Amino acid sequence: MNRRYRKTIIAGNWKMNKTASETRAFADEFKALLPKSKWCDIVVCVPSADISAAVRAFKDSRVAVGAQNVYFEKSGAYTGEVSADMLADLGVKYVIVGHSERRALFGETDSIVNKKVHAVLNADLNPIICVGESLEQREMGVTMELIALQLKSALSGVSAEQVRRCVIAYEPIWAIGTGKNATGEQAAEVCTFIRATIRSLYGARIARSVTVQYGGSMKGENAAELLSHEDIDGGLIGGASLKADTLMAIIHAANQN
Ligand code: PEP
Repeated sequence: MNRRYRKTIIAGNWKMNKTASETRAFADEFKALLPKSKWCDIVVCVPSADISAAVRAFKDSRVAVGAQNVYFEKSGAYTGEVSADMLADLGVKYVIVGHSERRALFGETDSIVNKKVHAVLNADLNPIICVGESLEQREMGVTMELIALQLKSALSGVSAEQVRRCVIAYEPIWAIGTGKNATGEQAAEVCTFIRATIRSLYGARIARSVTVQYGGSMKGENAAELLSHEDIDGGLIGGASLKADTLMAIIHAANQN
C-alpha cells in the first residue's frame, strides 16, 4: 500500500449472509473493537435487505456501508431490482460491481458491468469493480490479457475525474472462498499491472491515486504480507468479514505497513 497517494480500504463482502438483527449485533461488537486512530477506511457491503439496518447501526461510526449489487437503469419496470439512486438515498457509499459470483451465477457480462459502473458513479457512489481470472485462465497464461479486458471494459466511458472514485478489486476466482490465497507476489504482480493499465488510460497522476484491493481468502494471518506490497491498497474480504474479530484482525494487519 501507499498511504501517501491513495486510500487504504478494507471492505467486507458479506454475500447472502446475516439478517437485519444479526447486522445490528455485528455492528455493536465491531464498533466496540474499532481502534481510536484511523489506519484505513472501512466498508461493510451487506445484503440489500440489511442496508437500512446497517446504515442506522454504523451511523455514529466511521464504518461506511456498501451494497453488493445494483441495477443500471434509473427506474422502471424491472421487478426485483434496486437502482443506484435508491442505494444512495439509503446512505450507501460503495457498491460492488462485477463480482465473480455475479458474473458466473447471474450472467453479469463486461458490458453490464460497465453500465453498472456508470450508474454507480452517476449517483455519486463509489464502485468497487472486481476483476479476476479462473484457475484455468491462469494456467493457460492469459491472466493479464483477461484483466486488461475486464478493466478496460468496466472503465469504458469513465472520465479521469470519475476514475478517482473507483476502487479496483483484484480477485482471482481460484482464491475466493477456497482458503487458498494468492501469494503476495502473485497478487502484487496483477495489482501492479492493474495500475499500469489505468496509467495507460488516464496517466500517472490519476493511476497513483486509485485504490487497488486484493480479494481471495484474505485473513488476519496473511493480510500484513499481502498489504506490504506497494500496489495492494486494501482488501475485499468475504468469509473473514462475517465475524467482528476476524475482520478487525485484518484492519490491525493494515496498520503494520
Ligand atoms: C469475495 O468473495 O469477495 C472474497 C474475497 O471471498 P473470500 O474472502 O471468502 O475468499
